[in-house]
Amino acid sequence: MAHRLTTCTFCGAGCGLYLETAGNRVVGVYPSMSHPVNEGRICVRGWHVHEVADSPDRLRTPLLRRNGRLEEAPWEEALAFIAAGLREIRSRHGPDAIAFLNSPRCSNEEAYLMQKLARAVIGTNNVDHGAGVYSHNSINVLLGMLGAPATTNSIGELASSDVIVVDGADLAQQMPTIAGIVIRARLRGAKLVVIDTRRHRVAENADLFLQLRPGTEALLYGAMAKVIVDRGLANLPFIHARCLGYEAFLARVHDYDLAGAADACGVPSQLIESAALAYARARSAALLYSTGIEAREAEPVEAIVNLALLAGQIGRPGAGIYALTEHNNLQGVCDMGVLPDRLPGYRAVASDAAREEVEAIWGTPLPARPGLTAHAMFADRGGGRVRAAWLCRYDPVSTAFSGDAASSLQQCELVVAQHLFLTETAKHAHVVLPTTAFGEERVTFTNTERRIQLAEQVVEPLSGVSPAWWQLMKVAQALGADWHYRSSADVMGEIASAVPFYGAATYDNLARDYGRQWPCTHDHPLGTPRLFSDGQAASRFRFVPIARRQPTVALSADYPFALVFGHSLYYWHRNVLIQHSETLRREYRILLLDYPDGFVDLNADDALELGIRDGDRIRLRAAGGAAAVTARVTPEMRRGTVYVPHFVRQVQRQILGTAEDGVTLVPVRVEKEAA
Ligand code: SF4
Repeated sequence: MAHRLTTCTFCGAGCGLYLETAGNRVVGVYPSMSHPVNEGRICVRGWHVHEVADSPDRLRTPLLRRNGRLEEAPWEEALAFIAAGLREIRSRHGPDAIAFLNSPRCSNEEAYLMQKLARAVIGTNNVDHGAGVYSHNSINVLLGMLGAPATTNSIGELASSDVIVVDGADLAQQMPTIAGIVIRARLRGAKLVVIDTRRHRVAENADLFLQLRPGTEALLYGAMAKVIVDRGLANLPFIHARCLGYEAFLARVHDYDLAGAADACGVPSQLIESAALAYARARSAALLYSTGIEAREAEPVEAIVNLALLAGQIGRPGAGIYALTEHNNLQGVCDMGVLPDRLPGYRAVASDAAREEVEAIWGTPLPARPGLTAHAMFADRGGGRVRAAWLCRYDPVSTAFSGDAASSLQQCELVVAQHLFLTETAKHAHVVLPTTAFGEERVTFTNTERRIQLAEQVVEPLSGVSPAWWQLMKVAQALGADWHYRSSADVMGEIASAVPFYGAATYDNLARDYGRQWPCTHDHPLGTPRLFSDGQAASRFRFVPIARRQPTVALSADYPFALVFGHSLYYWHRNVLIQHSETLRREYRILLLDYPDGFVDLNADDALELGIRDGDRIRLRAAGGAAAVTARVTPEMRRGTVYVPHFVRQVQRQILGTAEDGVTLVPVRVEKEAA
């Protein structure tokens, strides 16, 4: 038997584990004891995610649509069909008639080549990933206020934080090993503050649990800032040395009042005050927030960064901001430029100077106009402009939070899907290219603490499949591009020149010490565990003044409940990896015995008032739609709030329809269905 260190490819924690092989099969999984993130622990998904490679449902041959049916086809024919289709659509409708979308689970190499194919070969910035507007908001705020769109400190540093704030992230479900680190820190004496609408497992362990009304986060943080200022706890030496915009921010802070905020947020003022004082007085305070589906508009993220700057809780061991990227490579695909308005390394598409830098590397002019978001693509095909879609490991028909991916794809002249399986999305494709699985190829992923890590090849790929990056290269070549990458390491070699903060991230370097945290440059080849620790930001941090305003969720007598969406351990994004992993799928089915069509969480007291019992059929009515679902009655929920796990797709579709991207809160009425 052989074993090899690799990286779990499920969530953004990026735990280190060993895969044990016998012949050409993975027969065992062991957590790495010395990996800096998981230190000998992995969650149930890590133990079983490799099972996906053995699924009997794996595609082994390209599929081509002929006479309305997908049929097996040789590789040469499938690739030539794609190239001819893209060429034809571009010549008839222009490059912006083609959109490229990938999963935030794609490797860095796939993500980089996909956006390069879009921009350098096709000539469009219609490039996006499936994590949606929530991640975009976080990136833009962090770039604007800190200059770096990522978590500032290492996960391991949470052990040295004396205050940890967890906001909007159900860590035990989303990133279980990080939940374990937080709980162990609390057991060692750290104060744990949880801000959330749901009393989840980490909240159960909190010293201070601020169970706020959904949509009131910015108001809560504004009130905390007011407490800090009024008590003279603003870190003025830090602010004056390293920040801009404090006076304008301060002028707005004076508008907040603790009692008013407490009333609007539904959190006792003493709790808000205690949380603010604990955060400001901490030797080192860490603040973790979700950039995923439960997450927020830009303003609450701005309020979080304001608070960290106000208290000077950044740039020291255990003091920082953790922008949690729940998908395993959400950080990486953004670093690679899978964004409609940003090139590799977060260079603005609209900036002439930024484009010229990338044009010099790629040797071709690049389009200047920002492209369509994934939401625009699925809402109405960008106003009907999009005629072709390329989807790399992305299954929007099952997972997209908004829009109607299925009907948008049905209206396209060409849909290309790269995937392990014939997903719900792939069923709408004209060409399906079967790809390699975890353990069958050597590629890299970047976790939520900026750690660029190798996922190693431990077995030979399934006969007939090929790496997605290779497929992208072959189509680019067929379209006339001079691309000649001999391996994924070659692709990473080019990434090192196109993404400045990956400059020294060669495979040789990454193979040492559990990868490297970016910036990993020739000056700092060992990487950067903590941003801003040398006392210098690239430029100074910026406060953003936030006017006090009332919460945006307008509840009424007709629609008195706030409906929120979120994650669930086994149902995580109706994840295709879970559906095709034997053990995880079994767990999935156990829950389905009780709730065959999924469930909606309802507060126990609310349920009592409405005469609803666990397992009853209920109807959620909103102004724009209605959905019938099964109630799960739980004390976890805040009164007046209803929670739908993200996998229960029919509720989102029936309630939201094609609503604006970014809708996470909807006023609803709850009715018991007649028996
Ligand atoms: S916490 Fe995330 S990365 Fe770690 S084992 Fe679980 S799914 Fe994998």
